[in-house]
Order: sequence, then C-alpha cells, then structure tokens
Amino acid sequence: MPAYFLSGDKIGEFTRLLSTWGSIYRFENTPQGVRLKLLTEDEYGTYDFPAVRAAEPAKFIFIKARKKVAEYFNDEWRYLDLKVEPKVVIGLKQCDLRAIKIWDNVFKDDPDYKDAHYISARENTLLIGADCLDIATTCFCNLMDLEPYPTDNTFDLSLSPANNGYVLFIGSEKGANAIADLDLPDVSTENLAEIDQRRKIIKEKLEAQNSKYKTAETYRNLVEKNPDSKSWDIHGSTCVTCAACTYVCPTCFCFSIYDVPGKDGLTDRFIALDSCKYQRFSFMAGGLNPRGSLVERFKHRYNHKFFHYNWRYGINACTGCGRCIENCMGKIDMRETLKDLESK
Ligand code: SF4
Ligand code: SF4
Repeated sequence: MPAYFLSGDKIGEFTRLLSTWGSIYRFENTPQGVRLKLLTEDEYGTYDFPAVRAAEPAKFIFIKARKKVAEYFNDEWRYLDLKVEPKVVIGLKQCDLRAIKIWDNVFKDDPDYKDAHYISARENTLLIGADCLDIATTCFCNLMDLEPYPTDNTFDLSLSPANNGYVLFIGSEKGANAIADLDLPDVSTENLAEIDQRRKIIKEKLEAQNSKYKTAETYRNLVEKNPDSKSWDIHGSTCVTCAACTYVCPTCFCFSIYDVPGKDGLTDRFIALDSCKYQRFSFMAGGLNPRGSLVERFKHRYNHKFFHYNWRYGINACTGCGRCIENCMGKIDMRETLKDLESK
C-alpha cells in the first residue's frame, strides 16, 4: 500500500485540498464523546485526533433514518434525490470501514440487487480511515478478526499518527487522485516502525480485554448449532425491545417501506429504518408471526449477523464496535451471549 508522510503543520493544506472534492466532515472529540462534525474552513488547520470510534455509526453518512424516495400516480414513478452532495469523511475507524463493506455487499455489489440511492451516496463520498489509538471497554473487533486500524479496501486514504504528523496511506485511485496536487515525502522506516509498535500495543489491549470471551468454535458454528441454548433465554430476558441496538449498529440495515398521500393526487413513498427487535417486524398477512416471542427475536439478530450473512457473504455482519453493548437498556453484552452458547 503506498504511503507518504504528512507533517502535522500540513493538515490544513491537506484538508483544504480535500474540500475541493466535497464538504469536509470529520470525527472530532467533543464533551459528548467522539462525534461527526461538518467543518468550517477555519477548523481545517488543527486536528485533535480521536483515540476511539465515534458514538454514531457510519451508516448515517449514507442514509437518513427516514427518507422520501419516490412519488407515483398509478404506474408512473418519479424517483427522488439520486444526486447527493459530495462529502469527505475523515477519521473512520476499522469497525466502521468494515461496516461499510458489509453494506456494500448487500446494496452495491450483490448481483441480485442494486440500491441506486446507496450507490449514489457511496460514490459521492471520499472515505478517510484512521487508526485507533486506544480501546473502549466495549470494543471487541479482535473477536471478529479485525485489526484496530484500516485494512479493508473500503477506504480511499487513511491517517496514522506518527512523529508529530501522520503516515498517509493511499487506499484507492480515488484517494490518490484527491491528493495528487499535494507534494509529500515518502514515509520513512522509522515512521512505519513507530505505528507498528503502537498497533501492536492496541492489539494486545484488545486481546487482554476480550480473552475471557474467546470461544473454541467460530461464532457462525455456535449460533447455527445451538438454537435451543439457554444462553438465548438468559441474556434475552432483560431485553425491553427498545431497538437501540439495531439503530446504533453500523451494520444493521433493515428498513420498512410505506406510502402516504402526497400533493396533487400523487402518493409519496418513504423508507425508514426498522428493527427486528420490534414485535411486528415479521408479522405476516393472515396473522402469522414467526418471531412473536422476545427470545425468538433476540436469537434472530445473532442468526442474521453470524450465520445467515456469513453463509451468504463469507464474513460476519458484526464488527465488534460494541455500540450495542454501550446503548443496551437491558445491559446485554453480545460477547457474553456468544460465549455462553458454548456451555449452556
Ligand atoms: S438495545 Fe438491548 S434492550 Fe434494546 S432492543 Fe436491543 S437488546 Fe433489547
Ligand atoms: S452487533 Fe453490536 S458490536 Fe456488532 S457491529 Fe452491531 S453494534 Fe457493533
């Protein structure tokens, strides 16, 4: 992967150049934690690099929780908002970059279905990854075989702090073109050694934090082979079906479609994020609900993430970002549910 050295005093020049590509959004440290912020030009020159992932998931870069997508009259359809504002997003950690790959598999790269809205938003966004410099107590990306720094081919550029500046990795042609006018020296072996050493320390912290949750079998096998485990009842029993876990999850993508009367006799079509945790999510015409009970819905979310998605695309639909643990009203820790499938 090509890499250059971007000295700290060039961050303003780097960001200004990227602003010719699109509006600059950057993950920033705030009193409410790490949040995504639309920058003004006078904020380009300094960067307080966040140590861990943001509170909000990356999916909201591309979608809104609710959006009108079309209007129609009889069979005449008009699709809306396919053109989107170009954006540059700086500071995506690996858990969010993997989540984007998980969405790409479903909405962009699957031969059976192409989502024009998602593809348009995705193509008009330049993704700048960032190393994790620390871990949160809920982080478990190592259990999902991820590294705490950008590795997936979803990023266009990425930043790794080193020697009062950054190692700038080029992840795509789109990224290389975006900074073509910037004159940067090649990265030195000392810079690479510095970031390797830091990455090793972060990985060791993750290993130490999550060693007690390691399982002998893969999560896919554990979920597939243990549909009657007591772990589902034990951990699912405190769920209050608030759906916070699915809303904050960067990989959860289920949405519902509904129509309402619009202007001039037209009908407006909306899509809105939905949740498999809601009782009527799987409700069918005729009154059948295959996941009417709380425990069935609880189990379904794990089935989808570790078995169905993995069966179809070869990776888990979980990145170990820990947001669902952090936001759960029922104090449910996904790592404990998975671990207990081994023994209960
Ligand atoms: S956040 Fe927790 S309580 Fe809320 S629906 Fe998800 S598992 Fe249940
Ligand atoms: S299931 Fe939880 S840990 Fe996994 S990606 Fe979603 S929010 Fe993150």
